[in-house]
Amino acid sequence: MTNTRWHDRAAELKFDGRAFINGQRVAAQSGATFDCISPVDGRKLVDVARCEAIDIDAAVTAARAAFEDRRWAGLAPAVRKRTMIKFADLLLQHRDELALLETLDMGKPIKYSRSVDVPGAANCIRWYGEAVDKIYDEIAPTPDTALALITREPVGVVAAVVPWNYPMLMASWKIAPALAVGNSVVLKPSEKSPLSALRLAEIALEAGIPPGVFNVVPGYGNEAGSALALHMDVDCIGFTGSTRVGKQIMQYAGQSNLKRVWTELGGKSPNIVCADCPDLDAAVRAAVGSIYFNQGESCNAPSRLFVEKSIKEQFIAKALALVPNFKPGDPLDETTVMGAIVDDIQMNSVLGFIASGKAEGAQLLAGGQQVRSESGGYYIEPTLFDNVDSTMKIAREEIFGPVLSVFGFTDLNEAIRAANATAFGLQAAVWTSDIRKAHQTARALRVGTVHVNQYDDDDITVPFGGYKQSGNGRDKSLHAFDKYTELKTTWINIR
Ligand code: NAD
Repeated sequence: MTNTRWHDRAAELKFDGRAFINGQRVAAQSGATFDCISPVDGRKLVDVARCEAIDIDAAVTAARAAFEDRRWAGLAPAVRKRTMIKFADLLLQHRDELALLETLDMGKPIKYSRSVDVPGAANCIRWYGEAVDKIYDEIAPTPDTALALITREPVGVVAAVVPWNYPMLMASWKIAPALAVGNSVVLKPSEKSPLSALRLAEIALEAGIPPGVFNVVPGYGNEAGSALALHMDVDCIGFTGSTRVGKQIMQYAGQSNLKRVWTELGGKSPNIVCADCPDLDAAVRAAVGSIYFNQGESCNAPSRLFVEKSIKEQFIAKALALVPNFKPGDPLDETTVMGAIVDDIQMNSVLGFIASGKAEGAQLLAGGQQVRSESGGYYIEPTLFDNVDSTMKIAREEIFGPVLSVFGFTDLNEAIRAANATAFGLQAAVWTSDIRKAHQTARALRVGTVHVNQYDDDDITVPFGGYKQSGNGRDKSLHAFDKYTELKTTWINIR
């Protein structure tokens, strides 16, 4: 498909910003809306329903009714499996439309929304659908006089609150395992990227997921999000977003009904490159490619690069040679690899971090500027700071933008200590030819995932989540089912 065609299709695309409750598109009960602005060019795409407590209540009531009459939970796992697989197939049939929605809504290049986000979401939904009729429960080793069954049951009504950086993918990581095991779901997408989630709900209905089972309620965090987290009839909340809001969500659960809370939060991931790295060019490509992918708006982006001093100069020279490849471009151009920052607020936040890095004495070696402002959208150059000190703000806080901070080290233990000296613990990497060093470093790093001699290799089969203030619980893999099920013991007297 040519670039012109993406622009033509964008011009023809119809948007619907209404909520999706009980199988129907509905306006917010107050009639209020908010503007959905495209970061690609700053144009308004559509009015989106500004849902609040009363709309959340309607969605939760619909979800509860669907759960109680077992229209979905009561189906055989094999039947839910077939429906989930159809849902995944339909997503792929709508691949171009969904990719375009995602790109227009949050600014990522069409190249990636089409090759990563839509197929990733479809694969996730298919995988959990396929898994659900292959999981067995347990029988406890009791005396002959009893039979004790340990079974998993859906928790009931699951709320999912997700961010804007991978809107469809983050939503699918929650809704797929939750739906597969028979829960009803109320999803609140980010106010910055609500459109693909709303289409997902329509497609789910078309696939055969009954009305009321999957509801999507757009709105602001402090209106719709808090109402969902405080709701007395929500059994569990799966949250992905900032650590600040994750803490609030846990408080809301404590203030209301002690709903189960699972959080996938921020990161400040360290990437440690030793002088005995087996492939320096691959390490450079990964260091640069992974921080600039998705405009740096990835929770697991390796934003802190620790390089052994003996190879640091060479490493930085190679990195600087690659940086121009990530020049921001038109997200609807298929050759673009770095698109727009999600909105002006996020762009200004990232520019503020860059200013603080300069003010605190880090050495700016590349980027640092807003670009393409004539487009009306929000773009920042890929940025690289050297000589970063661990006390600087850019070293401590999550920037969530295309900014790489480089540190030197001479002793690996010193690098590990510095890598761990953060409130976050999402991911890390180590590059070395020495398996013993690799293994010891992986053990010492307090994070949910350690990459060895690569950065982004990953698939749905492995858990994703963090230690410390990067959250609790895990998305992806069979472990995600733990979040959306309760364990029940049934002790049967057979004396
Ligand atoms: P955010 O915390 O601002 O918002 C996330 C969601 O929470 C949005 O839907 C928002 O509307 C809602 N929200 C905001 N305030 C709320 C409140 N008071 N009550 C209930 N809901 C509320 O985060 P963001 O800016 O959308 O996303 C970026 C963050 O997400 C980064 O910190 C990033 O690291 C994190 N993230 C983590 C993962 C992971 O898997 N660990 C994945 C992607 C993003």
